[in-house]
Amino acid sequence: MTLRISKLTKVYDNGVKALDELTLEAGPGLFGLLGPNGAGKSTLMRTIATLQQPGSGGITFEDIDVLKDPKRLRQALGYLPQEFGVYPGVSAERLLDYLARLKGVADRKERKRLVEQVLDITNLYELRKAEVHRFSGGMKQRFGIAQLLLNNPRLIIVDEPTAGLDPAERKRFLNLLREVGTQCTAILSTHLVDDVRGLCNEMAIIHNGRVVKQGRPAEALRELNGKAWSRTIAREQLQGLESNYFVLSAHYRPDGEIEARVYASEQPGPGFEATEPLLEDVYFLALRSA
Ligand code: ADP
Repeated sequence: MTLRISKLTKVYDNGVKALDELTLEAGPGLFGLLGPNGAGKSTLMRTIATLQQPGSGGITFEDIDVLKDPKRLRQALGYLPQEFGVYPGVSAERLLDYLARLKGVADRKERKRLVEQVLDITNLYELRKAEVHRFSGGMKQRFGIAQLLLNNPRLIIVDEPTAGLDPAERKRFLNLLREVGTQCTAILSTHLVDDVRGLCNEMAIIHNGRVVKQGRPAEALRELNGKAWSRTIAREQLQGLESNYFVLSAHYRPDGEIEARVYASEQPGPGFEATEPLLEDVYFLALRSA
């Protein structure tokens, strides 16, 4: 169940290079694709999902050549796009039944069994008679997972699924993703470092259409051990600090002072304290070093 992407390049008609020889490999489990807005995540997700063509490069999943045989990939794929529309006035159950039919499940009884199963997994069974277009953001995203599970996918792709969810909905959605993502290869794209922490066993950070860091979050944190430093400064000092040190991030505190986090291989100077590395540090270091 390995997804291999090699030297994928995409230049849009307006000249924007969204993917620049992007190469990565994702095995079973949850894989976090982390990057700022405009990094190329959606372009990559849509290309893997066979919805658009790259300019050059290759994609394979198991023994499937995705670009040559998109039909076969679609049979193995569950995709939750960034935005998905639903018809008003249709219940969750009916919509899932319809989608299962589209996915080729011809037998009515088998469809009923499948629909009940995915409603159950996503905790939407009680809401099966409710209209999907009246669902809250979190319920809609869980419905999105229900629909993608209908064909028992071996590759799951979810594109920025937590955008717009409140914290409780987000947590519930990520827990669901954790459950369904363990049995297949699941790629989660996000600009939120918090979505990746504690959830993904592998990650890639992408920036300007390239992978700038790939590996296990825990390992990336270990590499930063002893190299993350923090210091509290006044607002006026930030600019000076930035010109003299490798500042990873600066957080305003309620008292108006700033906690600056700095990357340095040894004690950078007076006032700095060693601090435990955060995944956010890994992220900013990768972006800044690119
Ligand atoms: P992300 O999902 O990481 O925010 P995208 O893949 O959406 O990144 O976009 C990558 C870059 O490609 C951005 O600069 C974006 O403006 C550009 N882009 C995306 N889609 C199109 C398109 N259809 N036509 C032209 N440019 C696009």
